[in-house]
Formats: sequence, structure tokens, C-alpha cells
Amino acid sequence: MKRIGFIGLGNMGAGMCASLVKAGHAVAAFDLNAEAVSAASGKGARAATTIAEAVRDAEVVVSMLPAGKQVLEVYFGAGGVAANAPRGSLLVDCSTIAVTDARQAHARAEAAGLLMVDAPVSGGVAAAEAGTLTFMAGGTEAAFGKAEPILRGMGKNIFHAGGAGNGQAAKIANNMLLGISMIGTCEAFYLAEKLGLDAETFFRISSVSSGQCWSMTSYCPAPGPVPASPANRDYKPGFAVAMMLKDLHLAAGAATAAGAGIRLGEMAGRIYQDLSDRGFGGLDFSGVMKDLKGAL
Ligand code: NAD
Repeated sequence: MKRIGFIGLGNMGAGMCASLVKAGHAVAAFDLNAEAVSAASGKGARAATTIAEAVRDAEVVVSMLPAGKQVLEVYFGAGGVAANAPRGSLLVDCSTIAVTDARQAHARAEAAGLLMVDAPVSGGVAAAEAGTLTFMAGGTEAAFGKAEPILRGMGKNIFHAGGAGNGQAAKIANNMLLGISMIGTCEAFYLAEKLGLDAETFFRISSVSSGQCWSMTSYCPAPGPVPASPANRDYKPGFAVAMMLKDLHLAAGAATAAGAGIRLGEMAGRIYQDLSDRGFGGLDFSGVMKDLKGAL
């Protein structure tokens, strides 16, 4: 059992906080949204009214915030985590943020005498609620060793991806591949249909042939073959276009900084940007299928 301060009780954080309580930890929870805090306290966390109150006696701080700006503010702003958490405590940021922001956070944490891991997740709200997320963590061996048992309380697959920021690097490279493979899968089903194959027949063939991928077998963008996929509920997310776009922006920024050419990643970003500009940011990212069919 550890004393944990949890900050950011949104779609993902609410379930993660509840999982830590279930795992037997003493969790103090804070969010700017008071309703989210009282929902967390209904699930066994202690309600905190400030960051300071949530982290004052914490051995571990876990955060799940929208983006790098909020992460740097929560950790290093006035009244933030670094100013209030006990020296030597461990910071575990699970938000998806830029690699550069994560590396800056690690450096500032170290200067403040705190251990840190960046530990973004794969898996959506359902996995957060079930405690079955995949975590990819960056940080020193010592920090990861302390973080791992905490992450186990919220996830199923836990990876140490290397040093500071490497968790974020793994996350955005993975999600760039997901964005590209989803668009490719949509185009393949669209072409097959135009050439006279129905979705079920093409799925039966391609799902055991060389075109097989997660976007097809777990999240098929054509209605029918995978009953749980958002295609069967008119592309209600799931994982929204706006969230995929965020991750592709992070990938493009990191690629530019690293001098890595990612032509398909940039093209995927333009396709999702176009959907977002046309007002479809809330559509599931497999909704590219609907757009190809001219149904948006
Ligand atoms: P969300 O917007 O639902 O939750 C963010 C929470 O942070 C909100 O409750 C908000 O009030 C709180 N917050 C913002 N600024 C704060 C501050 N200064 N102090 C305290 N609380 C503050 O977002 P989410 O969907 O839970 O996503 C969180 C992170 O997880 C993001 O980085 C996202 O990219 C990543 N992620 C999301 C999913 C998903 O399916 N939703 C999947 C994987 C990763």
C-alpha cells in the first residue's frame, strides 16, 4: 500500500484512480472539476481541494492531464506538485504529451529532488475502468522499478521503454502507425467494395492474409465483421478524430525536431485535420470509411 496523490480525474483518470483504490492504495484525488473529485471520493479516494493537499504526504503522484501545458503547470507552477510533494517522492505522468515536454519535466523533477517516469497509455476509457491499460514508461531503472508496481494496479502490460521521454516516444510512434493503418484499412475495404466484394468476404480473406492488422481485426472500419467496432454504431467513438489528430501533431513535431522524415504520418495528419476542419472531430477515427463513401 502506498500513499498516492492523483491529479486529473477526466475520462481516463477517473477509472485509473478507482483502480488504484481497488489495488489497496490510499489515494488523495484532485481535479479542477469539483464534480470529478466528488465522484472519485464516492469510489474510495480522499477528496482534495488543492494540488498541495493531494500531494503533501504522497509517496507517489500520478497524473492524467490533457496536454504538456497542463502537465508542466501542475508539476512546476506556483502551488504545484514540485513545491509540495515530499523530497524523494515519485512522479508518474500518464498523460500523452510531447517528448520535449516530458524530457523537460524529468529534468525539472530531478533538479527538485524528485524521481519521475513518463508513462503514457494505450487503451481507452474501457481499459482505464477495467484496469487493463498498456503502459510504456520512460525514466531511470530506479524510477521505473518503483513505478512498476503502481502501474500494475491500473494496467496489464507494463513496458520500460528506456530513459526520460521514451514512453512518449513509444506512444506517438505507435499511434502514428495506428492512424496510418486505419486509413489504409478504410481504403482497402472501400476499394474491395467498389470492385464488387462485400465487407464480410474481404474481411475473411484479408484478416488471414498479408494485409491483416489491428485496425482490421480488432476495430474493423467497415460495418459487420467486428461487431464491437464503432463502424456498427455510426462511428460514435471509441477514439475520436480529435484525439488521433493530437497524437499525429505530436508525432509530426517530434519528427521535425529529430530530423526524421515521416511522409505517411504527415499525410495521415492532413486527412484527420481535414475531417476536424469540417466539424467531424468528435467522430470515431475509423469514420474515414464513411468519408471515403461520400457519406459525411
Ligand atoms: P479529459 O479531458 O477527460 O481529462 C483531463 C482532466 O484533467 C479533466 O478532468 C480536467 O478537469 C483535468 N485538468 C485539466 N487541467 C487541470 C489542472 N491544471 N489541475 C487539475 N486538473 C486538471 O482527458 P482524458 O480523455 O482523460 O485524457 C487524458 C490524457 O490521456 C490525455 O493526454 C490523452 O491524450 C490521453 N489518452 C486518452 C485516451 C482516451 O481514450 N481518452 C487514450 C489514451 C490516452
